Amino acid sequence: MFDSELKEIIHAKELTGEGKLSEALKIVSALEKRSDISNHDLLLCKLLKGRILCRTLQYLEAINYANHILQESQKQGDSISYFDALLILAHSYIMKGNLSQGEPILIQAEELFEKLEVASEIDLREKQSYMVRIRANLVAFKGETRLYIKLNERALELAKDSEDKFLKVVCLANLSEAYLFLREYDKAMDYAKRAIEVPYLRVIGRLCILIESLLCKNDIVNAKFYFQKMSDLRDKDISEVDDITYRYSKALILKTSLRAKDRVKAEEIFKYIIEERENVNFQITMKSLLSICGLLLIELRFTNDIDIISEIKPYIAKLLNFFERQQSYWFFAETYLLQAKLSLLTFNIKEARRFLIQAQQIAERFEISQLAIIISKENEDLLKKLDSWENLMEIEAPMAERIELARLDELIETMTQKRIVITSQVIEERVTITKEKKICLVCKGEVLKFSYICECGALYCDNCARALTNLENVCWVCEIPIDPLKPVKLYTKDGEENIIENTKRKKKGSK
Ligand SMILES: [Zn+2]
Ligand SMILES: [Zn+2]
Repeated sequence: MFDSELKEIIHAKELTGEGKLSEALKIVSALEKRSDISNHDLLLCKLLKGRILCRTLQYLEAINYANHILQESQKQGDSISYFDALLILAHSYIMKGNLSQGEPILIQAEELFEKLEVASEIDLREKQSYMVRIRANLVAFKGETRLYIKLNERALELAKDSEDKFLKVVCLANLSEAYLFLREYDKAMDYAKRAIEVPYLRVIGRLCILIESLLCKNDIVNAKFYFQKMSDLRDKDISEVDDITYRYSKALILKTSLRAKDRVKAEEIFKYIIEERENVNFQITMKSLLSICGLLLIELRFTNDIDIISEIKPYIAKLLNFFERQQSYWFFAETYLLQAKLSLLTFNIKEARRFLIQAQQIAERFEISQLAIIISKENEDLLKKLDSWENLMEIEAPMAERIELARLDELIETMTQKRIVITSQVIEERVTITKEKKICLVCKGEVLKFSYICECGALYCDNCARALTNLENVCWVCEIPIDPLKPVKLYTKDGEENIIENTKRKKKGSK
């Protein structure tokens, strides 16, 4: 990539490879302003800057940069720089969850790679490693975790002799996170430890991954040991991203304490991240929100104080808002599942069923089939447990028992452990949802041709209107029947399934 004689560029490249990004950035920014360097060197400068922007998660700026480099390299007939810019562009789009723009660019790069004439073998392997890793990120967004692992292993192998340590570090970190997601904690820890051993400066993010996998295994002693290492590093040059990672890790450790005062401190840190720093790191903000919900649940268990449920609700609202803005429909649907479970704690079965339907409709609407299966199982589970809920309600069972029956802890735990692997399930046409568009009350998708508008003004897409007709057959806002010719069925226990069966059969006949 950087076949330049200019000593500043060579130096900046070395610094980048060691993770000294702010130093490297200073050099390139100064070079950019100089008028005495060649067009080719200027292009290399910009490429390096584009890469640094990607590595510091500033994807929007990276996109602007890469587009500029594409034009310039085309003018100069420099196909290698053109290829490098394509990678930066594809990477940035994909990491922003904008797959429909990212994927064709990646394919274009993959095709160009076949014809690329690069002077050195190692250069070629570095480029390929980056390209394969972008492909890995793409399949991760599509939920193919095993393939994600395979591609990261391949990218790691390609990067093994590279001076650019980042290429290795990031693959090892990815592998660790993927295994954490698959709950294979030993492998997760193994990769996290290998990631830390690579001499690349910005080690805090990797330490955080290691601490998380240790905590998953309940190894608090070692988690604290690595947190101490992180604290020691903190005094040296620390970026905003690192600072949030440090605070988050600290809260994770405090959270495990049996002392209430530590858990309060943890809560304060999570609140700080959510309220003051929500845009620094998507994943940490999300996990902080979930962690607060988890902490409040612990409190609820101990105190049986019903007010805590209303304290959790604003955080759930924040989660919903957050995921909708990020277009992370997997989490968006899962948060409705969380709401369903919370409704169960106050024995509001009707509300719980509605939230479940909503989760289901969202999963179907945005074609998240894996999740649709999970939610329909939850639905079955609830139907099976209706009697148990009745019993708990009669005896006014303590919260601990209700939380147990709702399997709430389990859900929060799985949500927290998910990360890049399925951070965002994006279906492109919905990316441009704007205020003028009509949005379905249930699945939050855009209402296209067919719709049902209730007298009260509530709007349903065709699919949700039909689903509701088959279930309770009332508008969720005003409770008026959707289809006056069909029976209304609110959630009482007896006879429900029969009537659902009848309407289903009728619907099929009429379609
Ligand atoms: Zn809908
Ligand atoms: Zn209505």
